[in-house]
Amino acid sequence: MTKSKPKNKPKSKTKSKPKSKPKKNDLWWKCSSCGHTLQRATPPETCPACKKICTFTEVSCYTPECGGPGKIDPQLMGGKKF
Ligand SMILES: [Zn+2]
Repeated sequence: MTKSKPKNKPKSKTKSKPKSKPKKNDLWWKCSSCGHTLQRATPPETCPACKKICTFTEVSCYTPECGGPGKIDPQLMGGKKF
């Protein structure tokens, strides 16, 4: 008789820890109200400069021309509206 081993394999608990890499290069946000820029992962609800609840436009740079991630895109800062 063969003893069927009960499946007692210690299930390696899959740590569902999302690899959240600490973002060194947060995004740059520009307040639509006063033009204040701040570097954050996510834009704040209220602008720390004008204390208003305003829209924040992302002005981070994505091209090496303006310094790459972690820098502000001057073109976006120029307020070029398409
Ligand atoms: Zn503002």
